[in-house]
Amino acid sequence: MDYLLKALICDKRVRVYLGKTTAIVNDAIIIHDLWPSAASVMGKALTMGVIMGAMLKGKEALTIKLNGNGPIGNVVVDGNAYGEVRGYVDYPHVHFSKQDALDDKATLGDNGHLDVIKDLQLKDLFVSSVPLQSGQLANDFAYYFTKSEQTPSLISLGITIKEDNTASVSGGLLVQLLPDALEEDIVYLESKTAVLKNFSQLLKQYERLEDLLDYLFDHKVTILETLPVTYACHCSKEHFSRGIATLGAEEIDKIIHEDHQAEIICHYCKTPYLYNIDDLESIKKGLKK
Ligand SMILES: [Zn+2]
Repeated sequence: MDYLLKALICDKRVRVYLGKTTAIVNDAIIIHDLWPSAASVMGKALTMGVIMGAMLKGKEALTIKLNGNGPIGNVVVDGNAYGEVRGYVDYPHVHFSKQDALDDKATLGDNGHLDVIKDLQLKDLFVSSVPLQSGQLANDFAYYFTKSEQTPSLISLGITIKEDNTASVSGGLLVQLLPDALEEDIVYLESKTAVLKNFSQLLKQYERLEDLLDYLFDHKVTILETLPVTYACHCSKEHFSRGIATLGAEEIDKIIHEDHQAEIICHYCKTPYLYNIDDLESIKKGLKK
């Protein structure tokens, strides 16, 4: 089961999010037919979607968009406060490896942007964009938090894709200093960077996230919340009919006469929705109201 822990360390002056996303990545591999290095990049983006979603409240939601002008094209991930993520990539059939490791930089590229769009249930959306620094997602997201949210953050993302193109492990860690953090907390966290280097190995070694947190932070952890996390899309025929309505009556008439039906496939979950002539006529009728 995938889940996420919210916790505090350093006498509650530092906040930690640790999530396991293996099942989410395996769902994404099947839905989108991802090849291994596309699975690595999308998997890490989904993991960040889970973590950043867990920072939201109630009906707030966010979208992460990555584009490094690499062969995978756009990587888009939606997250929310209920532990749900979904996403898509433009080109799932991408595979690059270097020295037996999946090459995220060659897949994503490093000449582009990381955009975060948050719907905080206010009048306007919060939109922020930073240039990609390295094509390595952990670094690029750490840069985003420092630049856009003025929150210095330590991020580790790990994923292992097996020969049979399934993820054996996937997850991520985000550590953030709270406003009352001390110099000694920074020194303490710096002492952890070496052990965090091979994060997928740690995820393999510690099946329970609670045990991994205890190991990483010397058994001085206060767990605040445990949140189950899943790949979920709440699309519906009704939802996409609103999209068809935006085409206008003339265009819908053209579809009725030429194609006698319309099919829409959800980007996020690949569910097909078929609209027959009756469906299209009733969408058109709705327009006149
Ligand atoms: Zn869907």
